[in-house]
Amino acid sequence: MRACVLTATGGIDKLQVTQIPDAPPPGPGEVRVALRAAALNHLDLFVADGLPGTADRLPWVMGADGAGTIEAVGPGVTTLHAGDRVLLNPGISDYSCEFCRAGEHSLCVNYRLLGEHLPGTLAELVTVPAHNVAREPNLSPGLTWGEAAAFSLVTLTAWRMLVTRAKLRAGETVLVWGIGGGVSLTALRIAKLFGARVIVTSSDDAKLAAAQQLGADVTLNHKTQKVSQEVRALTNKRGVDVVIENVGAATWDESLRSLRRGGRLVTCGATSGPQVRLDIRRLFWHHWSILGSTMGNAAEYAEIVRRLSQGELRPIVDRVFPLAQAREAYERLRKGEQLGKVVVEI
Ligand SMILES: [Zn+2]
Repeated sequence: MRACVLTATGGIDKLQVTQIPDAPPPGPGEVRVALRAAALNHLDLFVADGLPGTADRLPWVMGADGAGTIEAVGPGVTTLHAGDRVLLNPGISDYSCEFCRAGEHSLCVNYRLLGEHLPGTLAELVTVPAHNVAREPNLSPGLTWGEAAAFSLVTLTAWRMLVTRAKLRAGETVLVWGIGGGVSLTALRIAKLFGARVIVTSSDDAKLAAAQQLGADVTLNHKTQKVSQEVRALTNKRGVDVVIENVGAATWDESLRSLRRGGRLVTCGATSGPQVRLDIRRLFWHHWSILGSTMGNAAEYAEIVRRLSQGELRPIVDRVFPLAQAREAYERLRKGEQLGKVVVEI
C-alpha cells in the first residue's frame, strides 16, 4: 500500500510517500479500513520530531485521524460490513483494565493512539478494533471524506474538556486560546452549543474575524493585547469561568490571571512547552481547579457522533492536499497557517 511514512526522527523533512507492506488482515474483533482521507494533528509533529519509541519503529506510518470504507472484517465482527463508510476513533483501549471496565477508555493503562503507538491513517489501509469505528452519519449535504476524517480527534478532545471535565453550563464565560487550531475551534463551537459566552484569541486578525463568524462573542489579538487585562475588563474584574488551554508555557500565567475565583482551567496540550510555574497559595486561595484531559471515552465518542448526525459540530476543513503532497500539508500545520483541519486525501 502507499503511505506517508517517517523515515527517521528529526521532523517533517523526514517524511516520505512510498510503498510499504499492507496493513495486516483483521484479526478477531478487528476491521481493516480502506482510508479515503486523513486529517493532521499537532501530535503528528511531535511524532515526526521523535517521541519515546518512535525511532525504534521506523519507517513509521503517520496520522491519527481518518475516514474510509470497511475493506474486510475479522472473526466475530457482526455489526460492520465491507463497504460501510466509517469514521475512526484514534484512541485504542484494551477494554479490560479497571478504567475501561469503569467506562473511562481514555484512562486505559494500555491506551494507544493511531499514528503514535500504532501504524497511522496516512495510508491506503489501516487495521483497527471494531470498537474504534463508527458508521458515518447520513447528512444532507453528505460529509466529504475530508470532513469525515477531520471529525474525531479534536471533537472528542474538546467535548471531554468542556462537557465532562469543566462541566460547562449555559451563561458561563469561556476563554479559548489560539483559535486557528482544531481543538480550539471545536471548543468554541461546543461552548456556543451549550449557551456559553466565548472569548477567543489569535495572533492573526483574519482568524479572529472568521471566529466571530463562527459565534465567538469577543476576539482578542494576543500579540497586541494583554489577554488577562482585557478579560478582567470584559468580566467586570471577575475573570472567566473556564479556560481551555493547549498552549502551555507561553500562555499559562495569562490563563491563571484570567480565571475567576473557583474557576476551572482544562488543559490537553503544551504546544509551546510543558514546564509551567504554579504558586500553590494562589491555587488554594482562589479555589481553582486545574484539570487534565486527553481524548475521550466510548460514551463520549458515541455522543459526538450522535451530535454530528443531528447536523451539529460539522468539521471545518482548512485545506485538502493529495497524499503525494503530505509533507506540504504538514508544513502548513507546522507554520500554524490553518483555520480548521488540514486534510490529506488518499
Ligand atoms: Zn483499559
